[in-house]
Amino acid sequence: MNTIEKFNNSVMHTYGRYDVVIDSGSGRMAEDENNKTYIDFGSGIGTNSLGYCDEEWADAVCAQVRSIQHTSNYYYTSVQAEFADKLCKATGYDKVFFGNSGAEANECAIKTARKYSFDKYGKGRSTIITLVNSFHGRTLATLSATGQDTFHNYFFPFVEGFVHTPANDIAALHEAVDDTVCAIMLEFVQGEGGVIKLDDDFVKEVRRICDEKDIIMIADEVQTGAGRTGKFLASEHFGIKPDITTMAKGLAGGVPIGACLTLPQYSSVLVPGTHGSTFGGNPIACAGGNVVVSRVTAEGFLDEVKAKSDYINDKLSAMDGVESVSGLGLMIGITLKDKNASDVVKAALDKGLLLLTAKTKVRLLPPLNITYEEIDKGLCILSELIK
Ligand SMILES: *Cc1c(COP(=O)(O)O)cnc(C)c1O
Repeated sequence: MNTIEKFNNSVMHTYGRYDVVIDSGSGRMAEDENNKTYIDFGSGIGTNSLGYCDEEWADAVCAQVRSIQHTSNYYYTSVQAEFADKLCKATGYDKVFFGNSGAEANECAIKTARKYSFDKYGKGRSTIITLVNSFHGRTLATLSATGQDTFHNYFFPFVEGFVHTPANDIAALHEAVDDTVCAIMLEFVQGEGGVIKLDDDFVKEVRRICDEKDIIMIADEVQTGAGRTGKFLASEHFGIKPDITTMAKGLAGGVPIGACLTLPQYSSVLVPGTHGSTFGGNPIACAGGNVVVSRVTAEGFLDEVKAKSDYINDKLSAMDGVESVSGLGLMIGITLKDKNASDVVKAALDKGLLLLTAKTKVRLLPPLNITYEEIDKGLCILSELIK
């Protein structure tokens, strides 16, 4: 049996996989089992923020494996302390809870919001408003939070208390906010929903309503966080501070992590016995995260992300076959004129380029440290495929 046959024999068929076996990687290049190389414009899926096996990152992760790989969260570890300190400083938050994924980070945010409201106002104030076309994860609560009807099948009953309102519609938002609401949760750039950035006015109005009514504003920065948009957090583009921000995907450079960050008034809501995660804050993940946060917050790094984003956007906008470009920073959505996005992604594999889709768009989430030469090579392949 070859790898794909063996894989399909024993792994559940829950993804529409491409017929490629990725075996190794270096820098921004992935390599398959036949030694064919691919420029990775997807960072895995937004996870390998420093590319494949970055030297400093790999050294830190390997050293951690050889020191202590895991222990119970009933004990302290210095690497988790260091990472939490660094992450809180980089984001301006007071405290963090660590899980292993975006969905877990969002679960923590949802539980924190509901308990904060319960502690202060009692029962009946548990509604969480999320946006139509959002994506918040695959667990039952985060699926319930996800504002796309296609996800609301099969797994009934869903978790109660989630209301979906259209993005950027301030009137509808006002309509949705009643005295049962404890939180409003949003992505600044809807990722899976098609790389769509929220309007400034809408975000500011969410913040204003939350302040006025003691409602918790939750930002799902699982995809937008850790430098992806050219700022450490996408909220910085909007000049507001959410009460809670969740992060995951690129935060530890490709080892599993989730983080739920709180402002001081929400830091003591969860107490012993109310929340936990066996692997949350795992030392290996924290060691990887330490390197990512140090690198992304180093002088000039985010300016480079911004400059590369501008460079890619200019090139894409001038390309035959591109209808329009959306997104923020190195989170880019491309609407094609004639070609079908998933056909282009499949054809790109042949040519040695890894791309992603988001709804009907081609989506790019390149490693944050991609070089101009790699960008040029990848865009050259892309332009041939879409013209
Ligand atoms: C990927 C993603 C999630 C889910 O993260 P997992 O690690 O797959 O649980 C949640 N929210 C957003 C915005 C995402 O992009």
